[in-house]
Amino acid sequence: MMAKAAVMYEPNTPLKMEEIAFGDPGPGEVLVKMMASGVCHSDWHMVKGEWPSQPPIVLGHEGAGIVEEVGANVSAVKPGDHVVLSWYPSCGTCEMCQKGWPNLCFRGPTTANKPTMNAGETELTQMAGLGTFGSYTVVPEVAAVPIDKDIPFPQAALVGCGVTTGVGAAINTAQVQPGSTAAVFGAGGVGLNVIQGCAIAGATTIIAVDLLDNKLEMAKEFGATHTINAGEGDPVDRIKELTGGFGTHYAFEAIGLVEAPFLQSIRCTRSRGITVWVGHAPFGTPVTMDARDLIMEKTVIGSMYGTAKPQIEFPRLLALYQAGKLKLDELITRQFPVEEINDAFTALANGEVARSTLSFD
Ligand SMILES: [Zn+2]
Ligand SMILES: [Zn+2]
Repeated sequence: MMAKAAVMYEPNTPLKMEEIAFGDPGPGEVLVKMMASGVCHSDWHMVKGEWPSQPPIVLGHEGAGIVEEVGANVSAVKPGDHVVLSWYPSCGTCEMCQKGWPNLCFRGPTTANKPTMNAGETELTQMAGLGTFGSYTVVPEVAAVPIDKDIPFPQAALVGCGVTTGVGAAINTAQVQPGSTAAVFGAGGVGLNVIQGCAIAGATTIIAVDLLDNKLEMAKEFGATHTINAGEGDPVDRIKELTGGFGTHYAFEAIGLVEAPFLQSIRCTRSRGITVWVGHAPFGTPVTMDARDLIMEKTVIGSMYGTAKPQIEFPRLLALYQAGKLKLDELITRQFPVEEINDAFTALANGEVARSTLSFD
């Protein structure tokens, strides 16, 4: 079968559109016709060479589409189903899966890591086993989560990464309580979702921190009650002022920067509070913190894929969207045909967009 895909041949070079070929779905696999893909910061990390990758590679890991064909022994989806793809397939049997954390499945990455496409003589790998910057993909059954057919594909695609990562960090990882206070560092694609996750969970004070005023304006639309431009002094002082001098019950770092925001997110959390690191720092990044913060019984925890169980989380989030309680339309700032992927990256790099989505004709 032939399709088209945006391929990265090496980091720091523009992606190139290629005709690609792949075989039929094997046992336990599903062929998906891609209808929309989000463009996420993690794709950009790979383009910039900040994250390891195995080029030539079809990037993209935030997608929605239609099941076209299923291999042997597939029972969870059938041709015609609309699906959102999960970038962390789980085995169902390891210790993490059995304890209810498929987002940490011990076998997750290896389940996905097998090249199924080629461009002429060249074998291509797929980011996270998905490669949603291609018009078709073959994925493990567990990575294709069926959804309601009424939901538009671009909105559905966003649930495959940024929305689940952000909203999940608030409602699953931190388990934000009604009437609580929260600070969110970074009001980009993920940070805005942390903010709306806090709002959905009933936090009554939600403080957004960013360097860009246009992002802080968006933060208010997504539920921030206060905003702080971190370029105008230490945001921790201002957060403490806003919370009776104690700091917030929860703080989230949704940028992945090494220095200031990681430490500020700990410092602005009150005693017994929970600091959640959602942003992904480059591999091998050390963080130096004041040990006194932990003595005050603060919890610092990372969040991987929003501590989500995709089979439960994707339909749940999309039900919230249909009920008017989760903003997805507002996240999509621009839409590009897949051929213009490099322009979509430029828009992302310039901080112009909450999210861009790609279409395939
Ligand atoms: Zn992502
Ligand atoms: Zn597992």
